[in-house]
Amino acid sequence: MYYVDPHIHMVSRTTDDYETLAKMGCVAVSEPAFWAGFDRGSVDSFRDYFRQLTETEPRRAAQYGIQHFTWLCINAKEAENVSLSRDVIAMIPEFLDAPNVIGIGEIGLNKNTKNEATIFLEHLELAIKYQQQILIHTPHLEDKHQGTRMILDMLQGDARIEPGRVLVDHVEEHTIGAVLDAGFWAGMTLYPVTKCTPARAADMIEKYGPERLMANSAGDWGPSKPTAIPDLVLELRRRGHSEAAIRRVVYENPLKFFAQSKKFNFSPPE
Ligand SMILES: [Zn+2]
Repeated sequence: MYYVDPHIHMVSRTTDDYETLAKMGCVAVSEPAFWAGFDRGSVDSFRDYFRQLTETEPRRAAQYGIQHFTWLCINAKEAENVSLSRDVIAMIPEFLDAPNVIGIGEIGLNKNTKNEATIFLEHLELAIKYQQQILIHTPHLEDKHQGTRMILDMLQGDARIEPGRVLVDHVEEHTIGAVLDAGFWAGMTLYPVTKCTPARAADMIEKYGPERLMANSAGDWGPSKPTAIPDLVLELRRRGHSEAAIRRVVYENPLKFFAQSKKFNFSPPE
């Protein structure tokens, strides 16, 4: 089955991973900007990272017939450095016209601090000014519920934000309902260590239905499995879900969400 991974950090993955994804049916990926595992020291470091996301990765993906799209921001962890964050936000428009950029992300909260919230709101202003879609990172584990609530309040507190153009990622059983009820899209992250297993994701699909719901691997430099979406496909088949129902979650939904960006020039496989 063809599928799309709407949240995967391919800069951290090998070329062999691209080949494996292609063999498993992956035809497109979207890669949000993210923490590199260390705090970067200057705006030029981010400029080079954005060149990697807009020039190098699309070329690497294309060798395996995978279309690569990306989102730009400074992540919540580095948002503690407010002056660097402001320099990065001011530099992002240099890249917004690159052909594979489809929005601002993954922005959000990490430890739910005041500085993180300040920079989150400044990213929202950037997205509104340039009519960009938004991809949201919600915090891990014990900070998730409160952080998700704070994020939803900030999004809903701004009438200029269209919920249908916002994807809230890393939802779990205790946050998915609030995200979907407010009209946002929700992403379930399949992760071997924290976050959600294929079985838990299948339970959430059964409980909430496929509307505005998608799944991702968030494959990155930590313990993660870039082929987690095929694992979910297998779990859903095992439970007797139809091919059409599975395809909606792993292929049609991400395409429908991304297609709201004028830049999303996806060509379906022949
Ligand atoms: Zn991520």
